[in-house]
Amino acid sequence: MSRADAIALAYLVTIIAFVLALRFLSSPTTAPLGNRIGALGMLIALAATFAQAHLHNYLSILIVMAVFAPIGAYAARAVKMTAMPQMVALFNGVGGGAAALVALADFHNVAPAPGRVHADVGISIMLSALIGSVSFAGSLVAFGKLQELVSGRPIVYPGQKVVNLALMAAQALVIALICGALLFGVLFVLPIGGADMPVVISLLNAFTGLAAAATGFVLHNNVLIVSGMLVGASGTLLTILMGRAMNRSIANVLFGAFGQIVAGPVGAAADTDGAVRSASAEDVAVMLAYAKRVVVVPGYGLAVAQAQHDVRQLADLLEERGVDVTYAIHPVAGRMPGHMNVLLAEANVPYPQLKEMDDVNPEFSRTDVALVIGANDVVNPDARNNTGSPIYGMPILNVDQAQQVVVLKRSMNPGFAGIDNPLFLNPKTVMLFGDAKVSVDKLIASVKNL
Ligand code: NDP
Repeated sequence: MSRADAIALAYLVTIIAFVLALRFLSSPTTAPLGNRIGALGMLIALAATFAQAHLHNYLSILIVMAVFAPIGAYAARAVKMTAMPQMVALFNGVGGGAAALVALADFHNVAPAPGRVHADVGISIMLSALIGSVSFAGSLVAFGKLQELVSGRPIVYPGQKVVNLALMAAQALVIALICGALLFGVLFVLPIGGADMPVVISLLNAFTGLAAAATGFVLHNNVLIVSGMLVGASGTLLTILMGRAMNRSIANVLFGAFGQIVAGPVGAAADTDGAVRSASAEDVAVMLAYAKRVVVVPGYGLAVAQAQHDVRQLADLLEERGVDVTYAIHPVAGRMPGHMNVLLAEANVPYPQLKEMDDVNPEFSRTDVALVIGANDVVNPDARNNTGSPIYGMPILNVDQAQQVVVLKRSMNPGFAGIDNPLFLNPKTVMLFGDAKVSVDKLIASVKNL
């Protein structure tokens, strides 16, 4: 077998590894294996690339890898679960930027002469530079918003939609002006609210995949083409699924400036009496310990408090007393897709106890206590009842249909959408104020004392 054949074979193995990795990543139980297969595929691809006959700059490549690989590995290990979306935004932006830079280099290097390229290669170079630049600039703004370096509120200006649409049209006309692509990346993400950032990152991720695929065409590299396409397709699907979970079209996410401070009707008056009831940990412990069915509803606050292990401990205690405990998982609870599944898997919560929204919603009417831990928007009945609410139409977990609702949070502050929640004023609801981890620990102690 010639060297070229061996390299082509290695790339084929890489492609198969990437497809398998995606397949295994689709379930929390097999996801670690999927990650390992993906990493192995990447290693094979790197080895095959290093074996290319025409590669010369080993030293500079190795120096860059030696400096940045440990930084990447450290960042991935050290990043807090709640900061994961920022991390993904940053890594994605770097990927898009890299694709754009490769396109720039190719523009100077490809035959027949530097800067004079054939149409097919030229189109690929343009696409990869253009999409890569949008993805780079947009991802950095998304990172800035999530890290709160740039305001998370939608930044709007008069005629913003028109400007963005005009910019998009201008892109098609002046495709060669890469600076325009960078500007578009910034202006495109700036008006979008912080709560929508995960959707935007997922879309930009798809862009980066397409930019990488376009680079693959330039370099005649099948692995880049296939893996870029895989990223493009999975990013697009994820974007659509997230939009669907929030009952919002992608156009609404991109151009709707969701999360602007809107003056509108607040609360579904029928279910509230305007009073907030606060309970002690001892009272809540009694409610839980003597319940038949408890549904735990985790949200972003659980991730902030890192209370997943304590919650598992509390559930174990309740189960020992014969209480049936399950977890209701909203598809956009937390700040990234699968956030709650990952957290609870970390605490070894048995996977069958996690119930998807559609499966658990019919069960709330037969539930004694819905224990809402650091969740807010995903249990806001205004999404169901209040046509004036910015989140009207988003499917929610119907915790207000349980016999009793207990909400663990620190204050009456709103969640990421920045809106009030009438659930907290519902006569069925009691609030246990405090950090979720501290409150759950108090509950554990109180249940043990019963
Ligand atoms: P929310 O952001 O609505 O609410 C979280 C609540 O947790 C806050 O009200 C906060 O109240 C409380 N909290 C924060 N820290 C703590 C703590 N240490 N202890 C106890 N409570 C705490 O979270 P949800 O999970 O309900 O909703 C997710 C939001 O993110 C939705 O708006 C969703 O659309 C959006 N989103 C999610 C995506 C995803 O992929 N998951 C994608 C796009 C958007 P307090 O400050 O009073 O403690």
